This record gives sequence, structure tokens and C-alpha cells, in this order.
Amino acid sequence: MSFTMYVPTKILFGAGMLDELHKQELPGKKAMIVISNGKSTRANGYLTRTEEQLRLAGVKFVVFDKVQPNPVKDQVMEGAAFAKENGCDFVVALGGGSCIDSAKAIAIMAVNDGDLWDYVASGTGKKKPIANEPLSIVAISTTAGTGSEADAGCVVTNPETNEKLGIKTPVLFPKLCIEDTELMKSVPPTFTAYQGFDALSHSLEGYVSKFANLMSDMYAITAIENVGRYLARAVKDGSDMEAREHVAFGNILSGTVMCVGTTSSQHSLEHALSAYHENLPHGAGLIMLSRAYFTNLIEYHVCDDRFIRMAKAMGMEEAKNPMDFITMLEKFLQDCGVADLKMSDYGITPDEFPKMADNAMGPMGGLFACDRVQLTKKDCIAIYEKSYK
Ligand SMILES: [Zn+2]
Repeated sequence: MSFTMYVPTKILFGAGMLDELHKQELPGKKAMIVISNGKSTRANGYLTRTEEQLRLAGVKFVVFDKVQPNPVKDQVMEGAAFAKENGCDFVVALGGGSCIDSAKAIAIMAVNDGDLWDYVASGTGKKKPIANEPLSIVAISTTAGTGSEADAGCVVTNPETNEKLGIKTPVLFPKLCIEDTELMKSVPPTFTAYQGFDALSHSLEGYVSKFANLMSDMYAITAIENVGRYLARAVKDGSDMEAREHVAFGNILSGTVMCVGTTSSQHSLEHALSAYHENLPHGAGLIMLSRAYFTNLIEYHVCDDRFIRMAKAMGMEEAKNPMDFITMLEKFLQDCGVADLKMSDYGITPDEFPKMADNAMGPMGGLFACDRVQLTKKDCIAIYEKSYK
């Protein structure tokens, strides 16, 4: 058992912490604020508050407001050109995982030549090293899901190749993360559930992966307890601050699980779904796959004790059987109101499954090596088919 623990991001956690931004040592003099192309960041006043904080800190800024829900390469390149034109020397991501991931990719391309795909280390990526250190990143998270605000990775889609691939390197750790649970109150119930399930998945996968270790286990189990026991409350009542805090805390811990451990092939299988169907939120895709994915793993009996421990963490203290985890997962999805999500509602058809299995195992195949059991293409197709409604 060995691991490397390196999570250098300074984290300000809790309701109202955005107001502390101006007191922090900021990593530059001119910020590029990255927000989504929707209305909510402005309508909720988050942008005005962030701008005011930067003014108080004596920092100039420009706003880039073009990030779409599943970030794509062309926008990243456009954002990088915008950062160069405006002479920005750091990036402030204000939003959910898509904004933070876009901001990280923009931070790379604002100071490096060529195309983002030159620096992607899998699939059709050209695997070049990142020559110049990316612009520093400040991440202000308005959702609890990806953990990207305090981890070293970003995921971007290349629509030309139908690849949804990540870049993971320590230079992408944000310098500062603000996890202000007050900002999460405005997330609607379904998205609270999707994002929360993403956070939960990072820890569930990390806990059963081949590279689980004492350090990742510690973070994963605590994350599963916090998200598993509080997400349904945050879904039912978005202003339940105690629930929001536990979910956000679990989200940060799950980000750390990915830094000191890994996720597993469920993420590759999902990225293939949303690479072909951009309208499918990542967390919704994970929800659809989760029952068949984990049941398949349980049937191999490679880590029964770990599934029993996860069932306990989710609230079944008397759990004895690995399938108790599936019982708790089903209950959790019911409680969060997302047990009946259908692939067909997103235009996915079963004839796509062989191509998606190839996509998951090919360009996005790295995570299969993190599994305790080597899935075959047949297994992948069977998981998709069992998950199909
Ligand atoms: Zn994820």
C-alpha cells in the first residue's frame, strides 16, 4: 500500500465565506472571471458580489460569460484568447464544475501555444507536456458535485472526436477555493441531486477501486456518510443549510479522494454517454448506470467487505451482505427523487451501446485499470443495457 498526498489548495468553507475573498492574498492584479452562459450567476447577485470583493482587493477584472453546461474545447480556446487580449494574470472561476473545469483549461491555454488537445494525455490528445505554468486559479463554487474546486483535474469535451477527456496535473490545483454553502441555496432540486450523486460516486468508486489506500479510504467513507445521509434533505429543501453544509463537505472530501486515490470505470462509461449526448448531465448519467455497475462488481465478490462498509456509511448500521449496498443505493435514489431517470429521455438508443463501450474503453479507458475486475466490452454493453429505460 502506497500513496502520495498532495492537496495544496487553501479552502475557505462555510456560509458567507465569499465575503472573505478580499482579505486573501490573490495571485495577480487582473482577473478573468469565468461564469456560465446562463442567467443565474448574475440574477442571484453572485457576480456583483464577486466583483465587489475584487474591487476591495484592488484587483481589476473582465468577465467571460460563455461557459456551457458540458464545457467544449472551442470555448476554452475562445476564453484563452480573451484572457490574452485583456492581459489577465489569473482566473476566477465562479460557478459549478463546468465553470471551474473551463477556467482550468483556459488557464493552461492562456499561456501555452497550440490547441488544448495538444496537452491531453489520452485518446487523440497529443500528450505534450504543459511548457508554461498555467495562470493561477481561484475557484468559487456555487454547487457541490465535481470536487474540481480543490483538485488537480479538468474535463473538457471535443465534439469533433466525441471525446470527453481530462487533464490532470498538480499545476491545476486552484490556489484558493471558496466553498460558500450560501451560494448553493439557489441550485434547483434535480441539479442538487445530480451534482450530489457525482460527489458521492467519486467516493464510492474510489473506495472499491484497486488503488484505494488508508488515506483515500478515510476521506471516502466520511464523504459517503455526509453525502449519503444529507443529500435527500438538500434536494427536498434547498435552504436546509445543515444539509447543504454536509453535502458540500462530502464534495470537498470526494475531490481529495480523486487526488490521493482514483475513480473507477463507471466514470469512463458515463463520459461516453455524455460525450455523445451533451444534454445529459454527468451526475444524471452516473445515476442511470450506478445500480447495474456496482451490482456487476459485487457479483465478482472481490471486495464484499467494502460494499458492506459503504452500506453502513449510507445508514444501514446492520448491513451484512454486499447487496445491502444496492438496497441503500436504491433507497437513496428514491429519497432524492431520481430513481426513475431514463436514458431514452435524453435521446440515447440501445444500438449506440457497442460504440459507447468502445469509446469508454478506448479514449477514456485509463480508469478501467483502476478496477479490481477487468471489464470486457461485453460487460460494458451489459451494464448499459441493464441501465436502459
Ligand atoms: Zn464525476
